[in-house]
Amino acid sequence: MTYFEATHNEFRSDTFTVPTQLMMAKAMTNVTWGDSVYKEDEATLQLEEMMCQMTGKPAALFCVSGTLSNQIGLRAHLSLPPYSILCDHRAHVFLHEAAGLATLSQAMVHPVIPANGNYLTVEDIMENYTPDDGDIHAAPTKIVSLENTLHGIITPYEELVKIKQFCKDHSLILHCDGARLWNASAATGVSIAEYCSLFDSVSLCLSKSLGAPMGSILVGEPQFINKANHFKKQNGGGIRQAGFVCNMAMIAIKENFEKLEISHQFAKQVGDFCIANDIYLESPVDTNFVFIDLKRNNMNDMVLIEYARENGLKLMGGRLAFHFQLNQESVDRLKHVLYLTKQESIRKPYTKIIPGKRMYNYDAISTK
Ligand SMILES: *Cc1c(COP(=O)(O)O)cnc(C)c1O
Repeated sequence: MTYFEATHNEFRSDTFTVPTQLMMAKAMTNVTWGDSVYKEDEATLQLEEMMCQMTGKPAALFCVSGTLSNQIGLRAHLSLPPYSILCDHRAHVFLHEAAGLATLSQAMVHPVIPANGNYLTVEDIMENYTPDDGDIHAAPTKIVSLENTLHGIITPYEELVKIKQFCKDHSLILHCDGARLWNASAATGVSIAEYCSLFDSVSLCLSKSLGAPMGSILVGEPQFINKANHFKKQNGGGIRQAGFVCNMAMIAIKENFEKLEISHQFAKQVGDFCIANDIYLESPVDTNFVFIDLKRNNMNDMVLIEYARENGLKLMGGRLAFHFQLNQESVDRLKHVLYLTKQESIRKPYTKIIPGKRMYNYDAISTK
């Protein structure tokens, strides 16, 4: 199977981007032999140094996944519960990291629904945070964790500046789940360093749109990164000869960061197609996602996934992910699939509750 066959029709997630042949070849020829747990692997050190340069933070830590870098990052900021972490009600750290905040950090999560429907503002945070004022009924907010982008939505830079000021004034730590900060930066022109300057810690994924096979980077102050490294080891995240994956990650950043704009253009095309065809969206198309509002469209996700399958596309529900390894033909076919699903929803409106507003319909996927 070629890399084109693996990814050109893959709309389930931007994690399905794969290392290119060139990445594989370069990574294997520059191989290093050091043990990264002992901080002796040259490629890992190089990647971490490269990320310090890029983010403007003094320390960086390579992790196997974004879940690990978020969880150990948040954990390293916290001691002496009870306390809480405030985040968007759709946040990955809250919903998609297997309750890590409860088990690893003993933190209560305070999920907040943004008043504007799209992204948290300083007013949302002001209204919902819990001050550390001696009220023994409450769990004081210690961390505000923002996700940028979230569902592909960009939080405007000016809003982040206000949130940073609020956090500073109220001694709250500000963490960024920047799994897709790359996409925000590519779309707005605000550099990664400018974004990172607003946060105490940032986690950036390497295996999403960039196409590295695995990995994530946590950045912050050296003392914080040392503590996070301790938790990384505790959670089984120490990697011995990490050189080849770090080599691939460096190539992914150097060669693929600039290609993200392609995925944004594909998403915009499909978003515009939906609007033109009265297919309601859940959120604006700022970057590389289109979220179809299945409920409002009376659409059955099983039907959508089945039409996609018949047309040679891979979907897992109303969340459509775009990446640079797709091609125009697949994007056109996706529009056709959406059109068919829309017609079916008019003929036979689906009004049942879609259980758990499922983002990942594993039942439908397993029928293939
Ligand atoms: C994918 C993702 C992560 C981390 O996921 P891993 O699969 O553990 O690498 C974290 N945050 C967001 C917003 C993500 O989309």
